[in-house]
Amino acid sequence: MKIIQNYIDGKLLNPQENQWMDNVNPSTGKVYGQIPLSTEIDVEQAVQAAKRAFPAWSSTPYTERSRCLSALADLISKHADALALAESIDNGKPVSLAAHVDIPRAESNIRFFASAINHFSSEAHIMENTAINYTNRKPIGVVACISPWNLPLYLFTWKIAPALAAGNCVVAKPSEITPQTAYLLSELCIEAGLPSGVLNIVHGDGPTTGNAIIHHPEIKAISFTGGTSTGAHIAREAAPKFKKLSLELGGKNPNIIFADCNYEKMLNTTLRSSFANQGQICLCGSRIFVEEDIYEQFKSDFVAKVSKMRVGNPTDPATKMGAVVSKSHMEKVLSYIALAKEEGGEILCGGKQVIPQDTAIAGGFFIEPTVIEGLKYDCRTNQEEIFGPVVTITPFSSEVEVLKMANSVEYGLSATVWTENLTRAHRVANELQTGIAWINCWLLRDLRTPFGGTKSSGVGREGGFEALRFFTEAQNVCIEL
Ligand code: NAD
Repeated sequence: MKIIQNYIDGKLLNPQENQWMDNVNPSTGKVYGQIPLSTEIDVEQAVQAAKRAFPAWSSTPYTERSRCLSALADLISKHADALALAESIDNGKPVSLAAHVDIPRAESNIRFFASAINHFSSEAHIMENTAINYTNRKPIGVVACISPWNLPLYLFTWKIAPALAAGNCVVAKPSEITPQTAYLLSELCIEAGLPSGVLNIVHGDGPTTGNAIIHHPEIKAISFTGGTSTGAHIAREAAPKFKKLSLELGGKNPNIIFADCNYEKMLNTTLRSSFANQGQICLCGSRIFVEEDIYEQFKSDFVAKVSKMRVGNPTDPATKMGAVVSKSHMEKVLSYIALAKEEGGEILCGGKQVIPQDTAIAGGFFIEPTVIEGLKYDCRTNQEEIFGPVVTITPFSSEVEVLKMANSVEYGLSATVWTENLTRAHRVANELQTGIAWINCWLLRDLRTPFGGTKSSGVGREGGFEALRFFTEAQNVCIEL
């Protein structure tokens, strides 16, 4: 049994009220560990530790904060294999994905903000012969970072790194469904010599631990990534208390394929953008729109490739499709496949739970990669976030028609467009109501760029200096000449 502890004031601690939750391995369905169900008592302890650490950390030279973060990134690199395996066991994702995407990205998140803080500068506004204004960007104080289960260490570090680089002290909560790598990170923070109380990691569920964090009066800013309904709840609770909020929420992203695309590249990338991480990436393109001239060809080529994909033991380096994260999530995804059938959809491949032959993983939560056609663009299957290995394919005849369908959802996180026509690429990108538009690529990330969604996909932007601006309070200082 792997026992996880909270990391508060530089120490690994059991929850004070001694309440625990089970941690399930999604590829076996078995409980393999216990995590704290922290209450408001643990959260209070974490907030007080962060508050005590804040004066020293916020006045530590930024070069020294940068050095501390770099030391932590070095340790992630040193322990990358162990972290990748832990992520795979905890989440069900293929270990190859964790080793090539999740863990390297966690390391680069920390390295990126360790470097960015050295280049972060303030604006000055000069009133000729009258006054000089400059913007004094100050760390906020104690801030909260709350993250989801799909890219556990990747998204956890994406929040913590800018918060710490900017001089804040943090109370962070990883998802209770995938707490393992955040726990390993707390061990690495101790090894890296991060000053006590600067980062506190409190484990537990949303209703108990998460709520205690968002309600705490000393927490002045909340950076949250997760579901849209949780984001709405946090916004409702935090708004009257005037907490600063950054919300990265759900998506239902269109993948728009024009007939003039680079077909082979599109086909291979579409396979990834549909099913990477079992479709559990907020940026996956789950609604595939294909120009009618190539619709039949795409359908047969895509279905042929998807039909060859096999789920397997996530810890086997050869596995490309692992387990979905939990039993309840598997049931949710399967219920959407049933809904798609009710709504008139035809399952072209997949559609069922898989019980693997390998007895070691027979109790796991596996779903066949699933392709559905014949659905209206505005039916529930095409409007609601499924967040699993399920995509729909829909033909279109014109740019106007596909933009109407693409923009019809309440979400606006990302979109992918495939065309070799440069003018059309710019025009379509401009018309898409999304925070991110990828042209002829997917998930190509430059950490300096603004990252986030429009509509119900969120409020605010992460990435680059946007994140450092979020984690600082701007004060204008005006000096009369
Ligand atoms: P979730 O909203 O259920 O949980 C996210 C986190 O919030 C968890 O740590 C959870 O414990 C916590 N939480 C839950 N209730 C809370 C409450 N009342 N107060 C405070 N914290 C609370 O989301 P999930 O199921 O873990 O993640 C999947 C969702 O995340 C999907 O909708 C996906 O699209 C979204 N997501 C978005 C992005 C993005 O960048 N926009 C990235 C990854 C995932």
